[in-house]
Amino acid sequence: MIEVLGLVKRFGHVEVLSGISLSVEAGEVAAVIGPSGGGKSTFLRCINGLEAFDEGEVRVSGFTLGPRAHDARTLQAVRESVGFVFQQFNLFPHRTALGNCIEAPVHVLGEPRDVAAARAREMLCRVGLAGREDAYPKDLSGGQQQRVAIARALLMRPKAILFDEPTSALDPVMAAEVLGVMTDLAKQGQTMIVVTHSMHFARSVANAVHVFAGGRVVESGPPERVFSDPQHETTRAFLREAGVKGA
Ligand code: ADP
Ligand code: MG
Repeated sequence: MIEVLGLVKRFGHVEVLSGISLSVEAGEVAAVIGPSGGGKSTFLRCINGLEAFDEGEVRVSGFTLGPRAHDARTLQAVRESVGFVFQQFNLFPHRTALGNCIEAPVHVLGEPRDVAAARAREMLCRVGLAGREDAYPKDLSGGQQQRVAIARALLMRPKAILFDEPTSALDPVMAAEVLGVMTDLAKQGQTMIVVTHSMHFARSVANAVHVFAGGRVVESGPPERVFSDPQHETTRAFLREAGVKGA
């Protein structure tokens, strides 16, 4: 579904991704963990074409992004196949929950407004927001806003969804609600890459864990193996810091 080969990204002379190779099969959840500044956000942004890169290749459900400028048609295809959920939700403040959810289906997919609205109501219900369709972002809690953002991403029927620390701006109760929605999605077979601070989510929901540090994947593997028997000192240090016992 997603295959990244030898991805190199520089900002000026600073190399922030130094040859990342990683693949995610359809229906898989990949968790990306690691210290701040390791390149996790940049990696996600390269996958859906928000960021150009310098070397390597990104293949997403049959489309290939190469170094530097991407042609507009491929970019659009990739962005339509890959949803993105940001740490800061990024909802349109002047649109209701429902308005946020129907914007792209109407304007990008060309769905009739009533069809998009019916699907959006159903999706908002699925993320636990029935009855809040007409609320504006400022009147929703952070956890509710993030669940609107997830509904909005799902309504584009993405092949995969990328999550960039979706719960790190939330208090523990709201984070748990959002992680609950993400866990349901995982069970339903939604392909996802999740950059997360939640070691519990990475351990109990992901199929694979990838540890990023200094622009490299220092370690990858099934969660149980990575958490209980980390092979790399960077992983051990990170897991100790994150409070994971036995690391
Ligand atoms: P993470 O998400 O793992 O914390 P990032 O991908 O945000 O890491 O950042 C990786 C490195 O790239 C950091 O050193 C960061 O300062 C640098 N960086 C990120 N975005 C930019 C940018 N737009 N311009 C210059 N440097 C950047
Ligand atoms: Mg980041």
